[in-house]
Amino acid sequence: MAYRAFDDDTLGFTTRQLHAGYDPAEHHLAKTTPIYQNSAFELGDFDRGIRLFSFAEEGHSYGRYSNPTNDVLEKRLSSLEGGGAAVAMASGMSVIANTFLNLAVGGDEIVAAKTLYGGSLTLLKKILPQYGIKGVFAEDSDDPSSYEAAITDRTKAVFIESLGNPNANIADMERIAEIAHRRNVPLVVDNTFATPYLFKPFDHGADVICYSATKYLGGHGTLIAGVGVEKGGFDWLSGRYPQFEKFFEENREYIAEETLKKHMFSKRLRMTYLCDMGAHMSPTTAFYILQGMETLSLRMERHVQNARKVAGFLASHPAVKSVSYPGLPDSPYFALAEKYFPKGPGAIISFRIKGGLDAAKRVLERVRLFDFMVNVGDAKSLIVHAATSTHFGQPVEVQEAAGVFEDTIRLSVGIEDEQDLIADLDQALRGIAS
Ligand SMILES: *Cc1c(COP(=O)(O)O)cnc(C)c1O
Repeated sequence: MAYRAFDDDTLGFTTRQLHAGYDPAEHHLAKTTPIYQNSAFELGDFDRGIRLFSFAEEGHSYGRYSNPTNDVLEKRLSSLEGGGAAVAMASGMSVIANTFLNLAVGGDEIVAAKTLYGGSLTLLKKILPQYGIKGVFAEDSDDPSSYEAAITDRTKAVFIESLGNPNANIADMERIAEIAHRRNVPLVVDNTFATPYLFKPFDHGADVICYSATKYLGGHGTLIAGVGVEKGGFDWLSGRYPQFEKFFEENREYIAEETLKKHMFSKRLRMTYLCDMGAHMSPTTAFYILQGMETLSLRMERHVQNARKVAGFLASHPAVKSVSYPGLPDSPYFALAEKYFPKGPGAIISFRIKGGLDAAKRVLERVRLFDFMVNVGDAKSLIVHAATSTHFGQPVEVQEAAGVFEDTIRLSVGIEDEQDLIADLDQALRGIAS
């Protein structure tokens, strides 16, 4: 029998980022995953139509529900995570929003870190509360007991980022997972800044992972996309989730009970939210992400190598007040970085500059190689002023609790030659108050 590299999970990460989840024999032996640019698929015979619409049979019926190109992406990312099932969606925010809707109903609560991506903060503070779902924030995002104190009988998820935005803060995930699990609550982790190459949340207690694939997974600034991944095996029938109990009762007639129980989060995410709220990922986007992911490990190694050099340069620069990068030995997160990120704690650096807002503005206007944009995770280096962009419009206390000050500048360090990046920052910082 031919060797099936696409479903050999004993292969290394870099091998799987090229092969996992795609069987060329199912696609005319095309070596690159084809783009299935289709709105809909023939249902075949009458009974097959019924099986597809009841999700009893794996297959494709309407493009909003699933697509063969997206399917490869879902399988590839699941393999890289060591997870069970994934759902591709239109953006990172749609994955996060639909994840919360899947887990919580009116009257429920989601416990979260205060240091989150701006969109996630807005969702939990402003949007979901209008529908009765309340974001409850741990008093101290770094302290696991703060999460414990925030959990009530209405809590339906604990949500954290593996590397926080914009300060790359690291939470002690294993302790937070243990606290959540003791109360039958799943741990949901936004792993966007880390990627599965640098950090695998499922190995440290996470139950669901949310990605903005817009960032490192795509890697080239060409798309907006997200993927939700489920580890599988969480007990959704513990009594805490009436909506999952109902879903189980409604579908056990069609879907094998074992499969249904094992991947109930992603099944319900797809069948209820993707299908009927419509945040579907274009197959062309899935194709670009698959292309990007072929070099994920190589890019991440270089991103981290450059970030370490840039962080070291900034830390010794007289115009810089402080640098947040967990790879620096004096970072409060250094010990956690050593524990959880042996390959390096990502490539997002934020720093505060001497001279306040005026100095920050000067740096942003003077850089030449770093591009002034709100994105992160591009192969190219990017720079942004968080207070007036990603965290714009939030009250100063909220911004400061998230580590965003008027003199904070965030870098997403790319894969260029390190000496060019340092030379660019050097010229941009020259003459700033020291
Ligand atoms: C960008 C980002 C998101 C949102 O993703 P989109 O693809 O822009 O919707 C969520 N979380 C983190 C950490 C991000 O960086």
